[in-house]
Amino acid sequence: MSRTFILADFYAEASTKTTSELATAAARIGDVTAIVLAPAGKGAAMAATVNVGPVASVIVVESADFATHGVPAMADALAQLTTTHSPTAVLIASHAMGKEIAGRLAVATNSGIITDAVDVAADRSCTQLVFGGSTTVHSAVNTSTAVITVRPNSVEASTAASTPAVETAAITIADHAKGATITSSQPPVKGGRPELTEANIVVSGGRGTDGNFAPVEAFADELGAAVGASRAATDAGWYPHSHQVGQTGKTVSPQLYVACGISGAIQHRAGMQTSKTIVVVNKDPEAPLFEIADFGVIGDLFAVLPQATQGVHSRKS
Ligand code: FAD
Repeated sequence: MSRTFILADFYAEASTKTTSELATAAARIGDVTAIVLAPAGKGAAMAATVNVGPVASVIVVESADFATHGVPAMADALAQLTTTHSPTAVLIASHAMGKEIAGRLAVATNSGIITDAVDVAADRSCTQLVFGGSTTVHSAVNTSTAVITVRPNSVEASTAASTPAVETAAITIADHAKGATITSSQPPVKGGRPELTEANIVVSGGRGTDGNFAPVEAFADELGAAVGASRAATDAGWYPHSHQVGQTGKTVSPQLYVACGISGAIQHRAGMQTSKTIVVVNKDPEAPLFEIADFGVIGDLFAVLPQATQGVHSRKS
């Protein structure tokens, strides 16, 4: 069986889940080797977390250059491993950093690249949703190694535990990958709620909140959910852009998505339409999001959400 690389994802909010999703997709193509790019001295601890999903082996590369020189250094390490091992495919998480690494890797190894895949088949053909999710594209690259970025939350991750063999590769980062130096970086401030992209339940608010997210947050907290927002809400400064769901925000695919005061523009749908159950609260019965709702409540969110919050609370106690 051929070998497939995944880049173990320590860079997104939902790192372990995303790595499992990559492994699950990669296992359709070949035996999965997870590449762990680690700061010096951290490789073993990071490799130990790559133990879910069908990962057969792990290659650890430790280098201080990853923190100092960032993406170019990571892409260079991955390119050197790809040149040495000639995997059939390299799967990387489709966030900004993953896509930049993938682009550099494809150029360095003269490989074809597909970004933002939502599914990957055994023959390396990929499914992409384009034009805000309205059009489905199937495509495949012809080069011996395919570089593919896979959108988080698109693949149902295998959660079976694995005990992969771990080896260490000694790699010297090329000088051309050290052209820029990171002088400081700040990790994101984490709140008490689950991360948007890994939450089982997401409660989102839109322009209908009129800037008051209190009922949305109260309902989310009662459900143990993450809070999302439409672009109208984030552009208005009512909620941070890091919580925006949609084409230019995050893609979520929770078990339950509750949209409150959100009309259902195609750009918003693009980020949530694969949610397993969709509930819409909107006072306009003609709101387009009702078209894809499993359950709809026609009403004022400021009346509906406190009742729903109270209802959930009573059932829990
Ligand atoms: P509106 O469309 O104004 O809808 C508000 C809804 O709230 C209405 O349906 C109204 O009936 C309802 N409402 C009002 N008051 C209440 C109340 N008290 N109780 C209940 N319901 C109430 N949008 C995104 O969300 N994410 C993206 O990533 C994104 N990317 C974009 C990229 C591009 C290139 C473009 C052009 C647009 C993008 N947009 C995105 C914007 C998108 O087109 C919509 O403008 C936006 O989603 C609308 O947000 P909204 O539904 O909150 O507001």
